[in-house]
Amino acid sequence: MQSPLKVLMLEDVAADAELAERALRRFGLDCALARVETEAAFRAGLEELQPDIVLSDFSLPAFDGFSALKITRELAPDTPFIFISGTMGEEAAINALHQGAVDYVLKGNLLRLPSAVERALRLAREQAGRRRAEAEYRRAMDDLKASVERFAMVAQATNDVIWDWDVARDTLWWNEGFGQRFGYGPGDLAPGMSAFQAIIHPDERARVRRELERALSAGTRYRTDEYRLLRKDGSVATVLDRGYVLRDGDGRAVRVIGALMDITQRKQHEDKIQRLNRVYGVLSGINTAIVRIHDRGELFTEACRIAIEHGNFRLSWIGLAVSGTKRIQKAAEHGASAGSLCLNTCADAFNAIARRVMQQQQPLVCNALSADSELSFMQETARACGCQSLAILPLVVAGQGQGVLMLGAQETGAFHAEECRLLTELAADISFAMDYIEKEEQLNYLAYYDALTGFPNRTLFYDRLQQQLDAARRDKSRLALLVVDIERFRYINDICGRHVGDALLKAIAGRLQGVLDETGRLARLGGDRFAVIVFGARDETTIARLVEQGILATLRQPLHVEEREFSIACKIGIALYPNDAEEADGLLADAEAALVKAKQSGEQYLFYTPAMNRRVAESLVVEHKLRRAQIYERFVMHYQPKFDLMSGHISGIEALIRWHDEEVGLVEPVGFIPVLEATGMILEVGSWVLHRAAADWERWRAAGLKPPPIAVNVSALQFRQARFVDEVQRVVAATGAQNLALELEITESIMMEDIERNVICLKRLREMGIGVAIDDFGTGYSSLSYVAKLPVDALKIDRSFIENVGREGPGQAIVSTIVSLAHSLNLKVIAEGIETEAQAAFLKAAGCEEGQGYLFSRPLTAEVMAAQLQQAWNSDPS
Ligand code: C2E
Ligand code: MG
Ligand code: MG
Repeated sequence: MQSPLKVLMLEDVAADAELAERALRRFGLDCALARVETEAAFRAGLEELQPDIVLSDFSLPAFDGFSALKITRELAPDTPFIFISGTMGEEAAINALHQGAVDYVLKGNLLRLPSAVERALRLAREQAGRRRAEAEYRRAMDDLKASVERFAMVAQATNDVIWDWDVARDTLWWNEGFGQRFGYGPGDLAPGMSAFQAIIHPDERARVRRELERALSAGTRYRTDEYRLLRKDGSVATVLDRGYVLRDGDGRAVRVIGALMDITQRKQHEDKIQRLNRVYGVLSGINTAIVRIHDRGELFTEACRIAIEHGNFRLSWIGLAVSGTKRIQKAAEHGASAGSLCLNTCADAFNAIARRVMQQQQPLVCNALSADSELSFMQETARACGCQSLAILPLVVAGQGQGVLMLGAQETGAFHAEECRLLTELAADISFAMDYIEKEEQLNYLAYYDALTGFPNRTLFYDRLQQQLDAARRDKSRLALLVVDIERFRYINDICGRHVGDALLKAIAGRLQGVLDETGRLARLGGDRFAVIVFGARDETTIARLVEQGILATLRQPLHVEEREFSIACKIGIALYPNDAEEADGLLADAEAALVKAKQSGEQYLFYTPAMNRRVAESLVVEHKLRRAQIYERFVMHYQPKFDLMSGHISGIEALIRWHDEEVGLVEPVGFIPVLEATGMILEVGSWVLHRAAADWERWRAAGLKPPPIAVNVSALQFRQARFVDEVQRVVAATGAQNLALELEITESIMMEDIERNVICLKRLREMGIGVAIDDFGTGYSSLSYVAKLPVDALKIDRSFIENVGREGPGQAIVSTIVSLAHSLNLKVIAEGIETEAQAAFLKAAGCEEGQGYLFSRPLTAEVMAAQLQQAWNSDPS
């Protein structure tokens, strides 16, 4: 419900006021009328009541209507004012309207009052509305003005570039900042968006355009992008572009307003921080490595790895100067292995640059390889590694440039002042480590090597001895330890002076090393005492020979030092592994004890074990005797027949050598063959054996004895001769034997030495009609696949297996296996060393074709053999 109309009425006659009120009510206007008579009451009424309208008499006893109008205009200018008067002249009425009254109504015509009031109220409402609108408009105008001014000021004052793009008309507005920032003048760019996009870096242009289009069509409000922009001078700026998209009712983008911030510096700064961080990473990584690593090569490798993995470099390469040359040699590299490529493809040019860096001890930095003429030769290499920037830093040790560290980075401008400072520090740290390691190596060297001769000292020697003993234990080989003491060395020192003594020791060491070559290791135990490890020593006689013919002989040759001639005599103590001792301590002690004994005795050298000395002496005696003898005077051939196990007939003959020693009598091969082999005499003796056997066979044939094939044993040394087959051919031809049925027995281990070559030899023998048997089969652990490859005719099962036949254990099974294996390879099987009937029966049952042994016959002299053949022929002439 509408609230009643508030009416303030200035009227001294209460009845008149009542009439007016009634007139209004009658018209349907609900009103609350307050009547006042005085000025004070009127003013109070205006303020407190806040009337919607004022009705006023013209003249009152204590007040007047014009004054009331005036007061109303002042206090409540929007409140309409109507005069109600009994008598109001024309003039006063016009005056009243001029003064601001809305209307006047005569008391006699109150019927007009309601419409007058209504009109007045309407006018008042309209006026108030107008005034409000005006005020609002004025305020809006003021705001707009302020805002335009503010925008202009901001656009002016900001460092950023402000832009405004009218999408429909494709006009792009820029503030002045754009020109200032990027150098474009007012007419430089066409007004549309595509002209602007043309100055975006070509690498990013398409992407930026795509993303803007997507933002416009996807309904995005805000759009942010970061890209590179080409300044008018061609340089590149990085910008952060933010836009606000305005859309029409249909959501179509009509306008985009935004700001473009030049973040080039910030970006460069960030990049720089990132780069510095990575160099710091490398620095700390390498410093940790330096503390941990004490090997130069390992340090270089690790440094290069860290540079790539922590430093994000593309290429890291360390090269060291090769002394005495102009070359720089790679020590380590990581990352793109094209580092070595540069050495291969442009070695000279690169060496020259690296040399200069080392000499000047100044880093060489190239921040844009494509623009560097000096390093143009590296361009291809750099491109292959994906490097745009390169730094070559000197590695300086003790004031000398010793090498370079080269780092390659993917981007241009990677090496700036600060980064270079850190990298220089890094190179210095590596150099420091090199220096340190070098000193450490020197100390180590002194700790383990004899400074005078350069050979291992006692400490290192002991260590090496232990290693060699471990190795010997592993491959079940033998080892000898010799301690050599120079006699009367003290006098040389005293008489000729220490420097001569030193020079002499050096010369002695050189001589000893010359003799040992690959067979031994020399060390200086101290003073005038040397030690030698001889590995793989076959037996004590070989060692004795090395001592006599090597060490003693070489020292016997006069030495020239400081224009003087010295003859050196020495004493040697020898201990053997495993015979004398199994550990380094024991072996060294034994050798030194043997040395003491040698010094006390007249012997120049002694073994630790007396029996050894005896044996050596004996075998040397044998050697001596054998050397003296004319072969054919000293040796005789015995023959042992082989039998066909089925028929019991003689099926073959093996020729076995014997030595006729004047003092001892007949010596079996075990007593002299090793000496013949060790001295090389076996070659000559072997040929003689072949000749003798062939000649005897020919004699038997000529006598009509129909001798079966004759087998001759071949030693390793003979078979290894390059011209072995030729030699056999020569000897056989020289005997003039016709249709000689010859077989060679070669032991299994020799056969397996060099299969390829042996196959060729055996084929040639076969072509010559000479058969081959693998002797002592089963002792050489040869693999079956090898045996299958060899063109041989027979296997001779070793005597040790035959011995086991009829005993407990797997012996029998092994023999049967060998037999069937040989048969599967189409080989004949011969069993040697058959001594019992049981063995013979077993072998026969196992399918073994031939047998040889004391059961059937011992080796016989040629004459007895001939008689046997004769007898066999007599009993079975076929
Ligand atoms: P080998 O070639 O295996 O010869 C067989 C050896 O077994 C011979 O010993 C022979 O006397 C012996 N033997 C044969 N039957 C029996 C038996 O029933 N019981 C026993 N306990 N032994 C038997 P020998 O003559 O002492 O020859 C030993 C080795 O010396 C030969 O073994 C062979 O490797 C080598 N040898 C012999 N003569 C020559 C030769 O002229 N030149 C070369 N390089 N080596 C030879
Ligand atoms: Mg044999
Ligand atoms: Mg044998």
